[in-house]
Formats: sequence, C-alpha cells, structure tokens
Amino acid sequence: MIQYYSTRDQHKTLVSFEEALLKGLAPDGGLYIPSEIPEIDSLNWLNAHSLAEVGKKVLSAWLKEEIPEADLNLIVDDALNFPCPLVKLSDDLWVLELFHGPTLSFKDFGARTMARLMQHFLKKRSEKRLILVATSGDTGSAVADGFAGQDNIEVVLLYPKGKVSKVQERQLIVKRPGVRSFAVEGNFDDCQRMVKEAFLDPGLSHLPLSSANSINIGRLLPQSLYYLWAVSQLKPQAISPVRGAEESKESLNFCVPSGNLGNLTGGIFAALSGQEVGHFIAAHNANHFFPDYLHAEVDAFAFHKTIATVSNAMDVGSPSNFERIYHLLPDKKLKSWVWGTSVDNKTTLKRMKSCYETYGYISCPHTAVGLEGVALYREATGDSSRVISLACAHPAKFPEAITESLGIATPKEEALEVLWQKETNVISIEPNLSALRRHL
Ligand SMILES: *Cc1c(COP(=O)(O)O)cnc(C)c1O
Repeated sequence: MIQYYSTRDQHKTLVSFEEALLKGLAPDGGLYIPSEIPEIDSLNWLNAHSLAEVGKKVLSAWLKEEIPEADLNLIVDDALNFPCPLVKLSDDLWVLELFHGPTLSFKDFGARTMARLMQHFLKKRSEKRLILVATSGDTGSAVADGFAGQDNIEVVLLYPKGKVSKVQERQLIVKRPGVRSFAVEGNFDDCQRMVKEAFLDPGLSHLPLSSANSINIGRLLPQSLYYLWAVSQLKPQAISPVRGAEESKESLNFCVPSGNLGNLTGGIFAALSGQEVGHFIAAHNANHFFPDYLHAEVDAFAFHKTIATVSNAMDVGSPSNFERIYHLLPDKKLKSWVWGTSVDNKTTLKRMKSCYETYGYISCPHTAVGLEGVALYREATGDSSRVISLACAHPAKFPEAITESLGIATPKEEALEVLWQKETNVISIEPNLSALRRHL
C-alpha cells in the first residue's frame, strides 16, 4: 500500500491516503508526500481514448488498496466529465487546454476529484468536514463548485478582497449549497496565513477542519494524470520505444505556468511514475522565488511577499508546494530537470498579442506567461524539443487583459454569462485569526 509521511517528520511516520487526504496539512505543519511512487507502464496510456480512462488507470495505481475499483471508477467518471483538448500551435508547440471544467480553470481537475474522494471516505466513516480554503483566484471557485452539494462537507473560502478579477470574484461569491465566502481585507498571504493559523488554533479544535488547497495530496494526484493524457494525444509521434526510433530520439518538455507549484508537483508525480519528460519549464510571473532558487544560491525557506500581477492566480510569493518538491527530489535532480523563469506584466501582455497574431490563438495571461517561458527556455538552452505548454484558465475569465493586449472584445462564454444572474453570498472580514474565528 502506498503511504504518506510529513515533510517535517524525521521519523517518517506513515499514514494512509485516507488520513493524508482528510487531514490536508500534517499535524506538525508539514506536507504529506508519498513513501513510494507507483510505476505506471506508459504503454497503457498510449491507447487511451478519454481523459477519464487515463484517470482511472493512474488513480487506480495510486489508490487501489484503499478504494475499491468500482467506486474509484464512479468517482473519476463523475469528476472528470469534461474535455481536455491538446491544441497544436506549431510543429513543436502544443497547448493543453485544462480549462473546460465547470469553473474554467485547471483547478477543476483536482478539486472535483478530491471532493469525491473525500466524500467517499467521510460517508464510510459517518463523519463531516469543514473545508477552509485560501484562494488567489481560481482555487476558490473550483473548490466551491467541486464540493458544493457533497453531503458530508461544508466549505469556507477566503479570498483577498479587490485582488482578483471581476469574473473571478463573481465565481467565488455565487451562492452554492454548503459554501460560505469571506472577502479578506488583505492580500493572499494574509488569507493563507489565517488558514494555517486556524488549523493550529486550539480555539478552533472543536471544528472538523480540513484543507483543499494544493497543499492537499488529494488534489495533486489528479493533477498528474493530464500530463499522461497529453502524451496519449500526441500519438502516433508519442515518445515510446515501440513507435519508431526516429521520434523517440527527441524528448518532450512540459511548460507549467506556476504559482503555488501544485501543478508542477503533479507533473513531477507523472514523471516519477514513468512518463519520460525531458525538462519541465516552470514559468512564473513577478513572484520569482522558485526560478531564483533553481538558478542561484538563495535561501530555500526565506519568506517572500506576494506581488500582484496580471496573472493573478499565480501570485504566490512563497509557494507552499516548494517544501514538497524539495523533499520529493534531490536538489541536483530538481535543478537539472526543472528550468525556471520569471515574466513581467508587460512581456505577458506582449506575448498574448504575439500569440494571437502568430497562431490566431487567444490565451489568458497565465497561459501567456507559459508561452513566453517556452520562448525564453529555448533561447537560453538551445533545446528546441517539442513542448506541451499548459493552458490553465479560459481567456474569457480575463476580459480586461484581452482588451488591453489584443484590442478586441473577449468572445462571450456561456458558463460565465450566467453568473451575473445568480444570487451571491459574501461577507468582508479583517485579515486576522480572531476575525476568522468569530465568523466560523
Ligand atoms: C492556480 C493557477 C496557476 C498556478 O498553479 P499552481 O499549482 O498554484 O502552481 C496557474 N494558472 C492558473 C490559471 C491558475 O488558476
């Protein structure tokens, strides 16, 4: 059975997936990492016809000892019921569109799957949970939507008031069963700190708190499977020992627009479980702690303030999942495998424009950070291998940036239009633990 231990536990005390999932953060404040990584035979997914099919194969490799196969299949079919197209921009560049779930960001993958995994275990235990989640934009709506209506689970969202886009805010505050939204008068760091403090606060120990941020292992495992799905979509040129030596010579790189590094952790899981990945490109905005770490000697655990940018879902000064990656991979391996870069606002908007002019493709600011990252990587390293760049949010969520960079109105998106007719439910709170405690 694959078990998990905390990054801060020297004794590596093992817990089940069920416990790691329901706890979220380990009691010592560390993050759960797997004690072993299952080997998943890549030939198995090269023949996959749907995302859910890959999802079942991958998650079953991780979870089969803890969740009966029939239950897991139902969970995956219900959670991953949306398309995930791989769009070709040129002969050596694709974008993997991860934004066709209900809240139009890649966070639907993790949140929807995790909600159903949690509901599975809670029902079995006849227990309930209150999910506390800090969001810089897309996480909150994906979690709210993914968990809404699950019988044994309630959700409280904290987001930095005025620091998410209008559309994102609307997605966060629409009324959903079992979900409350708090607009925190501070920034994302305040929200994240309040959540962390709440978990350690004896005054709240009577509440069955749990997290749904990308610190939860239950969100990260589902985020590994679309890397494998993408490779299955590349066939017949996919990298495979049996599909022609010609193609297998050239490696495949993934570019991951990154903030809290959950998505990259998912990619690392996919790679450690058997998918060959040449390099990962971690493309960050002005919050550049991780690229700095990869390229230079910087203090790995110093705190960095968050800087607000046009790619706001990636506005994370000190990424939580860094601690996880740091423990998952030896430093040398990490630094040789992952290449990092930082992209400023002006360059992001310029890349959105050039992407539209060159490929006729409208990208959101986050996707544009990724595409700029691909260009910078190729220039810096001379490695011109094929790249799949992850497209993590639907461009229609960022109409202001699109108008500014492309000078066009954003094409209408039905899933967003309907939000403006819905009822909302939100209260403003001060950025401290006692305010949070009062309102819980
Ligand atoms: C959350 C998010 C990211 C960053 O993902 P991490 O897992 O936090 O690194 C990038 N782009 C979009 C659109 C997001 O919503």
